[in-house]
Amino acid sequence: MLDTLRRIVQEVNAAPDLQGALDIIVERVKSSVAVDVASVYLLDEEQGQFVLSATQGLRKDAVGKAQLGSSEGLVGMVCEREEPVNIEDAPSHPRYRFIHETGEDPYHGFLGVPIIQHGKVLGVLVVRQRKVRKFDEDEESFLVTLAAQLAGAITHAGASGKVTSALTQTESVSAALRGLPGAPGVAIGQAMVVYPPANLEAIPDRVAVDTDLEVNNFEAAVAAVRDDLRDYANRMSAVLPAEELALFDALLLMLGGDSLVAETVQRIREGNWAAGALRETIAQHVSVFEAMEDSYLRERASDIRDLGRRILTHMQSHPAESVEIYPDTVLVGEDISASQLAEIPLDRLAGIVCASGSSSSHVAILAQALGIPAVMGVNDMPVSRLEGRTIIADGYRGDVFVNPSSLVREEFLLLQTQETELTEALKNVAGQPSVTPDGVPVPLYLNIGLVSGGGTEVHSEGDGVGLYRTEVPFLMQDRFPGEEEQLRIYRNALQAFAPRPVTLRTLDVGGDKMLPYFPVHEDNPFLGWRGIRISLDHPEIFLSQIRAMLRASVGLNNLTIMLPMVSSVSELDIAMSLIDQAHGELLEDGMPVHRPPIGIMIEVPSAVYQIEAIARRVDFFSIGTNDLTQYLLAVDRNNSRVANLYQCLHPAVLRAIRQVVGEAHKFGKPVSVCGEMAGDPAAVLALLGLEVDSLSMSVSNLARVKWVVRSFTRNEVVGLLDQALALEEPRAIRDLYNSVLEQGGLGGLVRAGN
Ligand code: PEP
Ligand code: MG
Repeated sequence: MLDTLRRIVQEVNAAPDLQGALDIIVERVKSSVAVDVASVYLLDEEQGQFVLSATQGLRKDAVGKAQLGSSEGLVGMVCEREEPVNIEDAPSHPRYRFIHETGEDPYHGFLGVPIIQHGKVLGVLVVRQRKVRKFDEDEESFLVTLAAQLAGAITHAGASGKVTSALTQTESVSAALRGLPGAPGVAIGQAMVVYPPANLEAIPDRVAVDTDLEVNNFEAAVAAVRDDLRDYANRMSAVLPAEELALFDALLLMLGGDSLVAETVQRIREGNWAAGALRETIAQHVSVFEAMEDSYLRERASDIRDLGRRILTHMQSHPAESVEIYPDTVLVGEDISASQLAEIPLDRLAGIVCASGSSSSHVAILAQALGIPAVMGVNDMPVSRLEGRTIIADGYRGDVFVNPSSLVREEFLLLQTQETELTEALKNVAGQPSVTPDGVPVPLYLNIGLVSGGGTEVHSEGDGVGLYRTEVPFLMQDRFPGEEEQLRIYRNALQAFAPRPVTLRTLDVGGDKMLPYFPVHEDNPFLGWRGIRISLDHPEIFLSQIRAMLRASVGLNNLTIMLPMVSSVSELDIAMSLIDQAHGELLEDGMPVHRPPIGIMIEVPSAVYQIEAIARRVDFFSIGTNDLTQYLLAVDRNNSRVANLYQCLHPAVLRAIRQVVGEAHKFGKPVSVCGEMAGDPAAVLALLGLEVDSLSMSVSNLARVKWVVRSFTRNEVVGLLDQALALEEPRAIRDLYNSVLEQGGLGGLVRAGN
């Protein structure tokens, strides 16, 4: 049974389009269950009809024609009940409805199982038997299991089929492909398909005839790729901040480092020709990265592949083909690398659509930093057929439209115009203070690290840094950075923003952020060895980080330190005593270090209920709503299957924040919010009503949040919060805040979100 199931699902997954998939299903089901008829009825939502979409046993010419209302007949009954309907003599059932076109007259036994995806009925799988008989339990559970597994495959096949029909029809249709939001914004333009410049995987092993010549050829190619990368980095340096440019440094480091080059040379010396040796080395490095649990690091495998292809291209001396670059290029590819992006002049790059990857892929990180809309992970995209096609990429929702109908196009053009107007309008708030109309200041700080989301001008924005994720420099290395190295990094950040405050968060690895040189394998990493827990178990790492932070602030005195993932008071006490120890040692060494303000992040529910004890020990609180939402609602923040349940405007999250603010204020301790919620205009209305003291967000959200702050009085937002807390559903709360933004003339700030 299991084998049959697996085989059918595999075959269906490999089907070129929806019809192909459905035909395979009915054929395989008919033979595996030994029935007289197997059919699939799909629900056409617009028409409210079930349409016979594939059959083995009924008349083939009825496919696409035979229809039933969505609650008609036994098929409608399966849909209504959302469970199998198993009837020994269908024609005598009161719900039976005879469909003339199918010629189904002689069939009696009926078993229908619903095909359900994400709680929605997509269709019904039906088997029929000529004789009067009830299907047995095994048959029923086989079909139920199969239908559950097929739902996803049917959705995928439907999506790629839609694209095929969009490409083959002269009058275009609206075909939406689902991906993941990579970088916000809407792009409309022409697809430029990028593909690997050389197919490294296809290179065979071959005995080197002249080893020295092979080594020379390889080393010359490495040097050429190094020059190319430096060139891209120079071009990008005008528009990217240092943290982003570090990506190119990392690539150069890989090339300069011993392993990649030296290992290839060694393989050549052992007898393989240069291309074969390169293929072997790259494959080995790729497999190391692909095995890593951390999604950020797994993505680095594609950087290694990219390097390999580039070197191969140079070795093969294929001059780069000159391709047409459209004025509104939407870069499309199976796997787009950061350097492929860098090859397109920025004034021509409208958007990015990538079949693989996620928002933590390098290319998405760069897109965010450059303000270019991006959609990642569009699995069903027939990449090779898209060159020159009109593409709409909706980076907010993760939707892609190929050959959009004029209606869809107009809708998105309108959205783009509104965005441009909004950006223009937002410029007006640039130099203005972040103060409510009734005079309450709400400082706006920046979240920085790798995803700073802005150009070099980022340092002039905001009232300081509310969250510097120090794990980022740790992630970019191949060992723990030493105290001196950290000192340099932190000093740069403190200097860039001085005299404005900069909050350095101590190392927050674990969960989905794993250091390549410090792997931790756990069944539940988000509930495991994370954040402060690692720091306290390794005081030597923690102490050197604190010493570097304290030394970096000498003469600037704009440092504040923040501790992540604190779940108990004892953790805080130990951390505080280590900070005191580091401070004391530096003073003893004659360094004029100040003891900076120290705060903790509130991101674990247990901390929400210990504010009083914690408030006596710290100077401030910052609520990490990304993790707090995940832990309060028990919803993995990285799992797309439960993404619809991850809602920062959930009443429980709002009440937790209210509790933290209320308690902290009793002790005169300020509360900031530094999760993504602080950059979400509707949620900002709630946070202002909750009377948080400041907000910290990525630079790309700063202007719109400031606009919200400057548009509503304290009384208004407090009144709104009362209304919001009277609601029970997160969706209703978001709708309330969205309608307030719209009424306030800030409709452009309303966006999709949970
Ligand atoms: C948070 O959890 O809200 C937060 C800001 O920390 P991170 O996203 O780095 O876990
Ligand atoms: Mg966190």
